[in-house]
Amino acid sequence: MSTQNRRTFLKHAGTMAVGVGLPLCIGSRADEAAQHEIRVRLDAPNDPLVARTFAILKTRIEERCPARVIEAQNGAQVLLTVDDSLPLEAYCLDEEGAAVRIAGGSPQGLLYGAGKFLRTSGYEETFRPSPWRGTSEPRGTLRGMYFATHFHNWYHQAPEEEITRYVEDLALWGVNALMVIFPMINLHDWSDPQSEPAMAMVHQYARVAKDLGIQFATGLNNCMFIDAPDAIRATRLPDPTKRRGNSGHPICPSIPDGHAYLMENTRVLYEKLAGVGLDIVVFWPYDEGGCACEKCMPWGSNGYLKLSEEQAQLGRSYYPNMKTVLSTWMFDTPPEGEWQGLSDALAKDGKWLDYILADAHEDFPRYPLELGVPGRRPLLNFPEISMWGNWPWGGVGANPLPSRFQRLWDQVKHMVSGGFPYSEGIYEDMNKAVVVQFYWDSDRSARDTMKEYIAYEFGAGVTDDVLALVDLLEAAAGNSYQKQPVDTAGVQRAYELAESVNARLPEWAKKNWRWEILHLRAVLDRERFAGGGLETPAAEAAMIRLIEIYHCQMDTDDPYHHRVRPPLKRATSRSGNK
Ligand SMILES: [Zn+2]
Repeated sequence: MSTQNRRTFLKHAGTMAVGVGLPLCIGSRADEAAQHEIRVRLDAPNDPLVARTFAILKTRIEERCPARVIEAQNGAQVLLTVDDSLPLEAYCLDEEGAAVRIAGGSPQGLLYGAGKFLRTSGYEETFRPSPWRGTSEPRGTLRGMYFATHFHNWYHQAPEEEITRYVEDLALWGVNALMVIFPMINLHDWSDPQSEPAMAMVHQYARVAKDLGIQFATGLNNCMFIDAPDAIRATRLPDPTKRRGNSGHPICPSIPDGHAYLMENTRVLYEKLAGVGLDIVVFWPYDEGGCACEKCMPWGSNGYLKLSEEQAQLGRSYYPNMKTVLSTWMFDTPPEGEWQGLSDALAKDGKWLDYILADAHEDFPRYPLELGVPGRRPLLNFPEISMWGNWPWGGVGANPLPSRFQRLWDQVKHMVSGGFPYSEGIYEDMNKAVVVQFYWDSDRSARDTMKEYIAYEFGAGVTDDVLALVDLLEAAAGNSYQKQPVDTAGVQRAYELAESVNARLPEWAKKNWRWEILHLRAVLDRERFAGGGLETPAAEAAMIRLIEIYHCQMDTDDPYHHRVRPPLKRATSRSGNK
């Protein structure tokens, strides 16, 4: 990395840089064996997350260069330590003698520091430890990710080892909360044969998260099982904008039997999570949920608020430290007055609530920006990083939209301190890194994060070309989504850039799925916008590879699978497409 680049990102990292030392060149040793050996000392070896951080460091370095990373007490070149003088989630990279010291305020902070160290180290021919020096502390306290585990998408289908590896990678970027929902919407009741596997998947994600020090979150609302009795069903919502939804099987909490049914199923859900624990509950008003009866209206500041508080109190009888997030999704679209009603209610009493979440399909809701967050709670957002600009979701490969998320972030960065991006798969991995780094440091630009991402995932010397490629792909996605003509010269240029980068990548980067899905996107954009369409041999080969990477089903009984499967003509949906 040039000094200029290093200065640039030190500035953007919002940290105090202290004594930028010369990179330690491990590969310069004369002895051939020592040249390929990186000795790491663990100063808190009894903590499982410290040991895990070492294992993560070892696999990532050994994949990228011919070095061997070993744990050693003497002659260490890298130190991993927990330093109580740092804020809990902060990390510091400095030097102790000839070694680079990675310190965290906690094992979690150490893991984030290891992420920074890995992303700013060099791997060409030999390992060159990061020259980055400084201390960094996250500004946003809740840096979540919502995995939509459905439709046989990647989250639904991937083997546990791939999921574990992926969650590790997100933790390295600073993710500290993971949300997965138990899908009552698809189940008849607790005895449905699909209930147990669905709960097993929730447990799996909770375990993977918690082993990495990541908080586990789930969602609750007034939607329950398919077999809920008709007599307790909610009154349908007015939905003039057609964006609020009336999906699911919402129950009216103002009907006494409905209230009992909601609380009983909430209780069973809490009990079934006892084995893995629960750190955060996110309450959700609409899309699935809501009731328009006289006693519940206006739902957002009345029926919903009362039910959420009761569900929160019940949750804390099982998990005393459980945090709560109240979503305001689609408030006031109409009925009007939900934001104001929430403000009034929380001004009187809202101790049970920790965070308010707000967002919208496009620009951010005006109420909290102009009039303040109800109850003066920390504000979270819910950026939709998966569906915009592509259909099927991920179906033509990677969908990076860094400029879009920069624009949306600039509207709210002075107010928002974290959130739960909505994710349908791994194809928007770049968007995840960009958004989670906004939460870490609200002034860090998407472009700066992208530079770090590209250098780490694809190796040195391709950053400018990949940035140009991403800009072209984003422009094509935007035009295509808005039904505007796509610039065929730009599409062709993106393809040429992708081929040129591909020819220069080291073997490890070429095999990285992150590169593959970006490369395949350039191929598929050329075929669909400037070539013979999606049935050419080149397009079909690209989609078959994406289907493998995503673990899609070539023949499926899931009527929703087509939403997340590349549109290969010979792939079939036996139950049709919904
Ligand atoms: Zn009602």
